[in-house]
Amino acid sequence: VISAGDGAAALAAVGLRLAEELGDAVETDAPLAALTTYRVGGCAAVLVRPRDLASLRAVGTILSEARRAGTPLAVLVIGKGSNVLVADSGFPGVVVCTLDLPGEVTVERGQRPIVTVGAGVSLPVLARRTAALGLTGLEWAVGVPGSVGGAVRMNAGGHGSDIAAALLDVDIVDLRTGESVTRAARDLGLRFRNSDLTDSELVVSARFVLADGDVAASEAEIDEIVRWRRENQPGGRNAGSVFVNPVPGQVAAAQLIDGLGLRGLRIGTAEVSTKHANFIQADDGGTAADVRAVMEEVRRRVHEGAGVLLRSEVRLIGFPDTMEH
Ligand SMILES: Cc1cc2nc3c(=O)[nH]c(=O)nc-3n(C[C@H](O)[C@H](O)[C@H](O)COP(=O)(O)OP(=O)(O)OC[C@H]3O[C@@H](n4cnc5c(N)ncnc54)[C@H](O)[C@@H]3O)c2cc1C
Repeated sequence: VISAGDGAAALAAVGLRLAEELGDAVETDAPLAALTTYRVGGCAAVLVRPRDLASLRAVGTILSEARRAGTPLAVLVIGKGSNVLVADSGFPGVVVCTLDLPGEVTVERGQRPIVTVGAGVSLPVLARRTAALGLTGLEWAVGVPGSVGGAVRMNAGGHGSDIAAALLDVDIVDLRTGESVTRAARDLGLRFRNSDLTDSELVVSARFVLADGDVAASEAEIDEIVRWRRENQPGGRNAGSVFVNPVPGQVAAAQLIDGLGLRGLRIGTAEVSTKHANFIQADDGGTAADVRAVMEEVRRRVHEGAGVLLRSEVRLIGFPDTMEH
């Protein structure tokens, strides 16, 4: 039984309880940098990588019991880590990573084809798999290096589409209550690069409604998207667009930043990309503090110079504020 008390001791007790149940799928003081595309930041107090649904449900049960016993518990779900910046001080709670869950992609052929996908499957894999099966609707996802779960939470999108355009419903395990539910896409509050999903609601799988298409046409579209991305976006250590477009489809954050001549703005080990003004690049061996400092400086200058307060699209983990408002 986990009881409330000293925060760190209670967290250690939760870690032990998780390890009893899940063995080597649980790690304490686990470095998070390598699990993110920025490749900076500190450790998770506890990192869990469940390998099947039963283990994930056990995590939900243990965490909900701990919470009911009064343990103050911060929980974070992580997929491909392509939209997060983890503070150098790390995350003082339990991180649940979805990448070891079963990565199945199954198709039901009815009036409209329905594809069911595990949360940890990467979007580029999903885009290519569905295209190869002659299904159209997810080609755009080839350019987004996230997982299906992270993409649902963020309502990821690009090239004129997004997750909301094809999502039917999702299975969720709530890490706060331990409950499993199926929730329709219309009840997720999906909007431009965001949703109403909370930090404790882990998307286990998603169902998409696609259309019958043409393999060659879908593959040609995919090749064109990949070519466009290579030409217009930098590789390396970044998390894609840092700030949400203030007016989607009309005012792009990149335009505002570029208009003020901020490409190449550098603080310590991080800089505004010279290739795409809404990307921030971290150096090899860089720090989250420097990435964050560049974000603050860009935000300050755009507010002063253009009268717009940019909001962070990247999720800031372990920082005192999220820059999302
Ligand atoms: C080079 C590059 C280009 C990019 N281009 C685009 C683009 O064109 N369009 C776009 O929308 N995004 C883009 N992104 C951002 C990113 O890839 C997307 O936001 C992606 O959907 C995040 O998925 P992830 O698995 O990496 O999520 P993570 O970074 O791991 O997490 C992001 C958020 O989702 C939550 N989360 C993760 N998994 C789950 C889950 N299973 N259940 C519930 N919540 C979860 C996390 O708690 C966090 O709040 C780009 C990133 C990079 C690095």
